[in-house]
Amino acid sequence: MRLLLIGPPGSGKGTQAIVIAKHFGIRHISSGELLRQHITDQTAVGRAAAEYVARGDLVPDGLVMDILRKPVEAASKEGGYVLDGFPRTVGQAESAYLIAKDLGARVQVALYLDVPHDELLARMMRRGHTDGRSDDKEDVMHHRIEVFEELTTPLLDYYARREILVRVDGARPVEEVSAAAIAELEKIRPTLT
Ligand code: AMP
Repeated sequence: MRLLLIGPPGSGKGTQAIVIAKHFGIRHISSGELLRQHITDQTAVGRAAAEYVARGDLVPDGLVMDILRKPVEAASKEGGYVLDGFPRTVGQAESAYLIAKDLGARVQVALYLDVPHDELLARMMRRGHTDGRSDDKEDVMHHRIEVFEELTTPLLDYYARREILVRVDGARPVEEVSAAAIAELEKIRPTLT
């Protein structure tokens, strides 16, 4: 199965991606984690991406596409992937589609973790601390939520029109969200081509 997760910052996207990857025996590929690793390792990509990530802005498409190409291609040959954090814009989705379709790597399902704006803010306040990520501070989190709403939510229409969008209510306890996501995905698994 080749799927991607769409969810705002604080929606639990990373946590759900891990559970889903384990359940379906597919690879979890997180663009954010790959970028953070490049930044820690101070690679050329890491140096170019660092400021964008620190501000909560999207890094330029070329950088993200470069670091994802190999892992996505490899995972597609080995049962599939759950992509966590990519694509973030309709432009990225269109570019990725053009590359992936010839590789047999194109996305089959987009899963949307729907968490309302107010709930995201409430979670942020409740936590009152950071996860050790430099982009997890309150002002940067606010900006990341804005970026999601402006640039990433148009993806929902994009995938809905292609009839591969599944929506799950993400404003519930983690285990309930996982169970609902897996149930939805199991339902459509037999229809995937
Ligand atoms: P995440 O771990 O998915 O929340 O991503 C953390 C940060 O990495 C984002 O705020 C962006 O700066 C950057 N990033 C991750 N994925 C992408 C992407 N697909 N396009 C552009 N920037 C990204």
